[in-house]
Amino acid sequence: MSDILPVLMYHSIGPIPAGSRRRSIFVGERAFERQMALLARRGYRGVTMDEAHAVLQRGAPTREKLCALTFDDGFLDNVTVALPILRRHGHRATCYAVSERIGQRNRWSEDVLGVSSPLADEGALREWIDAGMELGAHTRTHARLTTLDDARLEDEVGGGKRALEDRFGLRVSQFCYPWGAHDDRVVDAVRAAGFAGATTIERGRARMGVDPLRVPRVHVLNQHHLLQFWLKLETRYGDRR
Ligand SMILES: [Zn+2]
Repeated sequence: MSDILPVLMYHSIGPIPAGSRRRSIFVGERAFERQMALLARRGYRGVTMDEAHAVLQRGAPTREKLCALTFDDGFLDNVTVALPILRRHGHRATCYAVSERIGQRNRWSEDVLGVSSPLADEGALREWIDAGMELGAHTRTHARLTTLDDARLEDEVGGGKRALEDRFGLRVSQFCYPWGAHDDRVVDAVRAAGFAGATTIERGRARMGVDPLRVPRVHVLNQHHLLQFWLKLETRYGDRR
């Protein structure tokens, strides 16, 4: 029985692009494969945030070992590289897409990373959805929400949700704060837009009864070895790393 449901945070799955100033958000394909295989071997089932939300809010310890798998920004490699691996091991996951950047590149990170990478286009995201994975929202333009006035805040949060729902013909109930930036006003806007849940970049493993609009995550980064990955999942090792 467990009252913990770790939510793992990934970005890109693939090689570090040439010229990148930071490597942490790029988890290699082989490392990812080994992580997903380890989860399955140890009896974990990877779930979407929609499924995790239902379990976390029910609040009763689970008999089954669950962990939620999340991918921020909607990188193309989430579909071309990660999706086959997820399917092979029977896991599900949530990918948070930026509605006005679909099929483009993550230029918002270029100042930090020195490079940009391709984001999934509409066809790739449909493939993701058709495989039983979840599409979550990550605003219209990856704006830093705490800096926006109320009207622009609603447009980024609610507008991003409606754009994804209209384009893909489904309900989008899960949100992720770009840059992790949130405060009480932003959280209120996410709730008002109709989202059931939202993830932050606060480090830690989610526990039953967690605030559904402030769900912390376990950061899985390029430099983590498989043992560190396991410690982060099973212990409090990841609360500070
Ligand atoms: Zn992001």
